[in-house]
Amino acid sequence: MRYEDMEYENCENVLRYIISDSGNPTRAEIAKRLGLSKATVTQIVNRFIAYGLVHEGQRLARQGKGRPGNPLSVNKDMWFALGASLADNTWQFVIADMTGSIVDSYEIPVSHMTQENFIDTLICGLRHMMEKCPGRFLPGVGVGAPGVVDEAQGDIVFAYDYGWDSRLNISGRIRDELGLETFVMNRNDLAGIAEYKYANPEHEQSMIYIGIGQGIRAAIFSEGHIIRGADGRAGRISHIQIDPDGKLCSCGKRGCLFTIANEHALLEDVNEMLAREDIPSSLRVCTGSLSAEEVMSDAENGDRIALKAVRNVASAITKAIMILSVVLNPRKVILGGPIGDSDALVGFVSDELASRAGQRDIYPAVLRCSIKPYGSALGAVGLVIDHAFHLIHEDFIAFAKQQ
Ligand SMILES: [Zn+2]
Repeated sequence: MRYEDMEYENCENVLRYIISDSGNPTRAEIAKRLGLSKATVTQIVNRFIAYGLVHEGQRLARQGKGRPGNPLSVNKDMWFALGASLADNTWQFVIADMTGSIVDSYEIPVSHMTQENFIDTLICGLRHMMEKCPGRFLPGVGVGAPGVVDEAQGDIVFAYDYGWDSRLNISGRIRDELGLETFVMNRNDLAGIAEYKYANPEHEQSMIYIGIGQGIRAAIFSEGHIIRGADGRAGRISHIQIDPDGKLCSCGKRGCLFTIANEHALLEDVNEMLAREDIPSSLRVCTGSLSAEEVMSDAENGDRIALKAVRNVASAITKAIMILSVVLNPRKVILGGPIGDSDALVGFVSDELASRAGQRDIYPAVLRCSIKPYGSALGAVGLVIDHAFHLIHEDFIAFAKQQ
């Protein structure tokens, strides 16, 4: 390895360690953890402090032998990152500091969801947010996209939610228009990344985020890494077969999770029950224009038809979680998205999981998502912060040479 490459790698690793370790490590702790000499870490950290990336706190109280070090943390006041994600046909934009705290947000609805409007609106919002950055701007952007994403190319491969079956290149367009490096990922995976990075105080390394809305998708974290799979398609759990005799799915199989638990299936179930059952329900007044949000909110208020429909979704989601648990042994499962973000659903799933557990089964805790409404856009910021050193390294090396 060339000396320059080794230096680059050491700088990147030290910065990532300081960003990810909320315990404010000292230079000596970083050196020990990364297997580097104290002199190397001290030189890198001192340059980061001078450059405004790292903040040095007051010396810790003496513990044991030796001189205690100063606690280090990422500088929250100087550098900022930009992320965007599509939610409900609206682009959401956030600017956050290096710890992932949102300092500004913005939304623009996409008028007609064509590929052209989708990307034009994205560029327009990014340009607006770049002008509002309150400090130095990390010259990259994270983007949460619908559908199956080719992360290496920065393309949407296809997005059935919108009937798009041709590739759409996002990275190239942003590079041409705004000169920014772009990191594109599925929007649901980014919502999972936000929960993993910024709402995971116990630093659980094995967990699953399941987003339930127009589609159903899992972001799977195992031993500290998100699982991508051979073709980047790991986590497309909507096509787990729940009922072999169930409804025909768009994939050609019968009774996939998608046919029972997505927004469309939920509304179909509610409408069938309203027509069939003579139970009073506040949902009767809005039939025809019923939305999944209304059903979920009425379930929270105890509406019996809504609760029955949510219980049917919960039953299917529970079966999927049981399969995932046997294969992956996650410690917790977070439910999010328009249907998943619900106390009623989380309660039903938790109860059903407990009642189905066998003697030696260890099932995960099921929790409601906690980062909203900008979870996915914040996950996109997280991608930019992960690549912070890569994005600034040329400027940083030029700065370090002048020191
Ligand atoms: Zn299917």
